[in-house]
Amino acid sequence: MEESLTVLMVEDDRDDALLVQHELRRTWPDLRWIRVETRAEMEAALIRSAPDVVLSDVKLPRFSAREALLVQRALAPQAPFIILSGAVKTEDVVVLFKAGAVDFVEKHDLARLGPAIERERRECLSRLARREAENTLRKLSMAVEQSPASVIIVDRRGIIEYVNPRFIETTGYFADEAVGRSLHDTGCECAALLEAGAIEAAEGRPWQAEVRSRCKDGRLLWEKASVAPMRGEDGMVSHYVVVREDISVRKEYEDLLIRQALHDPLTGLPNRRLVLERLSQSIAEADAGAGQVAVLFFDMDRFKHINDSFGHATGDAVLVEAAARLSEAVGPADTAGRLGGDDFVVVLPNLADLKQAEIVADRIVASFNRPFMAGGVESYATISIGIAVHPQDGADGETLIRNADFALYAAKERGTSSISRFAIGMRKRAEDRLLLEQELRRGFEKRRFRMDYQPIVDLRHGIPVGAEALMRYDGESGPVPPSQFIPLAEESGLIVPLGHWALETACGRVAALGALLPEQFRVAVNVSSRQMRQGGIVRDVIQVLERTGIGPERLELEITESALMDDGHEVSRALDEISAMGIRLSIDDFGTGYSSLSYLRRFPFHTLKIDKSFVQDVTVNRESAKLVDAIMAMADSLSLAVVAEGIETREQCDFFRERDCALAQGYFFCKPMREDGIERYLRDAVKEPAGGARDDF
Ligand code: C2E
Ligand code: CA
Ligand code: CA
Repeated sequence: MEESLTVLMVEDDRDDALLVQHELRRTWPDLRWIRVETRAEMEAALIRSAPDVVLSDVKLPRFSAREALLVQRALAPQAPFIILSGAVKTEDVVVLFKAGAVDFVEKHDLARLGPAIERERRECLSRLARREAENTLRKLSMAVEQSPASVIIVDRRGIIEYVNPRFIETTGYFADEAVGRSLHDTGCECAALLEAGAIEAAEGRPWQAEVRSRCKDGRLLWEKASVAPMRGEDGMVSHYVVVREDISVRKEYEDLLIRQALHDPLTGLPNRRLVLERLSQSIAEADAGAGQVAVLFFDMDRFKHINDSFGHATGDAVLVEAAARLSEAVGPADTAGRLGGDDFVVVLPNLADLKQAEIVADRIVASFNRPFMAGGVESYATISIGIAVHPQDGADGETLIRNADFALYAAKERGTSSISRFAIGMRKRAEDRLLLEQELRRGFEKRRFRMDYQPIVDLRHGIPVGAEALMRYDGESGPVPPSQFIPLAEESGLIVPLGHWALETACGRVAALGALLPEQFRVAVNVSSRQMRQGGIVRDVIQVLERTGIGPERLELEITESALMDDGHEVSRALDEISAMGIRLSIDDFGTGYSSLSYLRRFPFHTLKIDKSFVQDVTVNRESAKLVDAIMAMADSLSLAVVAEGIETREQCDFFRERDCALAQGYFFCKPMREDGIERYLRDAVKEPAGGARDDF
């Protein structure tokens, strides 16, 4: 029961009012009582205090129940209006009921008033509660209707009973197409959505997941879905509310981030991380099925050169083109990746036969033999490939890649475009190479290098016209041949200071020989491609000539074709400057590289040295003989002097003599000699005039 009650009574009879008041106090001792007689009083009272109930006599001298009802409607509509009267006509009461009065109590029956008020108050309260509930429901349904997420209500079997406008907008299914069908039938690709939601709900957890949905027009979406159960009065789950939010844009962005984390941004190929991931997956599969996995590893022979000569933009373009060729050469199940720089790797999973790996390697090598037309220039970037195979050559990805790298080294030693399979000894050789590289640096500081000299002779008269300076290294455990240490010195960069030293030493020797030198005698010094590219060669030459005091006509530089290939402008300019100083230039090992007539035309060469591999073949191989004839004819047309290099026998010597080749070099005449040896040799040559003792050539 309510503690307090505020009653407003419209009554002119004070005694009646007191009686009513007295009666009600029995139930509500704290009763607040307001009595009014006129409309103005009633209005003022209603504005001041909100009564719980309004009681009204039917007829008053200056007011009436009908008017009082209007005032109550307007100012206190929630308070029940009860008519309290003596004898009154039924029609009057009916009119008042129609106008909104809720009950009628006769003054002689006041005992009924308390319960009537109580009942009315209860009803009033529940009316209020109902209205509030209706309000809330209206707000809720508005929220659902206007929700930026799709809201779907399904029954326990998963049949749709309601979809909100957002669902219609997103999926393209109209309400009447969706209602009555299952979630699955309207494109939700997560079949287990409701089961999973139900299990979680049973355990009191909200369920959420990212699911795929297919729109009516076939488009695929990513949605974040949540499922919540709806319970009936009995506490049993009767429905589920499925809320789905379109997260396609976020997903796309996430996918992009993942792609970026696993792919090389320049070429789009998988990066080291992804390659290793796929590799270990392939290894696991191979182990389960007793298959094999091959790892092919390579870098581009002349990539550094391309980058240095033409700039990074061209280098990048070559890498992109290389990636395209690589992707074309491998199958869809294979992984071709870029590990960084110009290092590429291919994973061939699930190999039944190792021949397969060789076939792919051959195909890749062949595709790199074509010149690259990237960044507006033609360049060459051939490759060799090292192969390592799981399980034989390594148990894990890192080991396989490292061993394939060792195999690559071995392949390169055999020459470009070779393919090598890993063998245990290769690792040892690679380590030895590393040790030798370190030793060479020490050796340079400790002056363990020296220059030997091999005469170049005039074939007609047998007199020396020059000597080639050849570097020698006395290693910590014996002499190391130049074919081993020169490439290492080039790779490590030691060749730059070493080459400077060679130039200075050779020129110094010429200066020391002074008067002993025949009139046209020159010293020929080998210059590596790295020295050419790394610049400074012109400055080196000027400095050395100044320091040693010899004239430029005493010096010749030997440059291999590889130093000229896809030359940047620096190489070309350096050669022009050197030539302009009066120093001669020879093209060395002619015929072994990408012999190209255009090099001979483009650069200011004086001499062409035919490589000894052809020279030594001329007497046994007709093809070589023809080739040598062609080279000499070409040199003649370009007014180049020719040196036949590596002549070892009389027959070879005769071959060139018959063809009027002017110059030659080889063991048949003289082996490379130490500096005191060349000095003796020159002394003897001065003593024996031209042609004399030497006409046995
Ligand atoms: P290269 O410039 O072609 O030098 C000629 C090579 O042929 C020398 O080998 C020489 O000893 C060898 N040779 C000469 N006559 C004969 C012969 O009748 N038969 C045979 N089988 N060989 C003969 P070497 O001294 O072992 O040098 C090898 C290579 O190392 C040189 O080839 C050159 O490319 C490089 N090299 C040597 N010294 C230097 C140097 O000071 N600087 C640079 N950058 N490279 C050098
Ligand atoms: Ca040479
Ligand atoms: Ca040579």
